[in-house]
Amino acid sequence: MNYFDIHTHIRKVDSEISSVLSILPGDSIPEGYYSVGLHPWFVYESNFEEQLELVREKALGDNCVAIGECGLDRLTFSKSGGSVVGDKALALQLGEELQKKVFEGHIEIANFAKKPLIIHCVRAFPELLIARKSIKTTTPWIIHGFRGSQEIANALTGAGVLLSFGKSILSEYASNFKVREIFKELPADSILLESDNVDKISCEICNIYRAAAEIKGISIDKLQNIIQNNINNNLYLDGMIRKQKQ
Ligand SMILES: [Zn+2]
Repeated sequence: MNYFDIHTHIRKVDSEISSVLSILPGDSIPEGYYSVGLHPWFVYESNFEEQLELVREKALGDNCVAIGECGLDRLTFSKSGGSVVGDKALALQLGEELQKKVFEGHIEIANFAKKPLIIHCVRAFPELLIARKSIKTTTPWIIHGFRGSQEIANALTGAGVLLSFGKSILSEYASNFKVREIFKELPADSILLESDNVDKISCEICNIYRAAAEIKGISIDKLQNIIQNNINNNLYLDGMIRKQKQ
């Protein structure tokens, strides 16, 4: 495979592309590589336990290469805690607690299945870093669709977390100057690439590789090698994360 898309919601069938389809706990197991997790947008008090059970079952599939997407999203804390009618502050607090609890559930499943986590994080990086330090975690963490600051990128990579980049590094995005600069300086062993596609017409992983190679000032071949190494070292393929092979 020449291009490896570590996170998409719709699989493009192309012999040049290998992709990890992100599925929700209730979805059926697809053909090919997938990751399974309860997205923070869909975390509710009423059913999160059942949903985590479904994640746990599907996490053991041979083609399940990672757990996620899961994580923390500050913009939806109040939605997750929304059962508290009329008290926004309390809903926010309860939503944050609930999303953290569900995220911890995913960390535990990842440890159990020996698979990495693919993480969605919006305006909650301090909380994520605290979780990274305080909860026992034995598998790689990958932040998908990274668009944070340089400071956050440093803190995450310093803690051994990988960063996956998508559309935001394409030159047609006007506000991407900073993220391209951050991507340029990141060590080769901490980057991954993704399309995060939700429909068939959205952007191509090949374009993201092209932009990434250009920003790094290296050939596409070299970039493909770097990404393939990172895939081998961090995703669960052929029954293991290859770097853990003894
Ligand atoms: Zn996604």
